[in-house]
Amino acid sequence: MQKINLCHYVKSKLAKFTQMTSEVVAVSEVIQLVVKKALSKHENPVPCPVCGRMMKNQRGINGHMSKMHK
Ligand SMILES: [Zn+2]
Repeated sequence: MQKINLCHYVKSKLAKFTQMTSEVVAVSEVIQLVVKKALSKHENPVPCPVCGRMMKNQRGINGHMSKMHK
């Protein structure tokens, strides 16, 4: 009987932990979005087609592509 209780306890803990982890992921996604928004303050931001980072302009993309996505 005790074993079953322990198993249930672990499962409920695990479920809580999984929930927490998904919340952390959601928060980091929000941070990424904020960073993207801050970067997109440039007049004509161009998103990198590979990783989605906002660059000032096409020249920025070209430089970013040659540096980050060889
Ligand atoms: Zn990129």
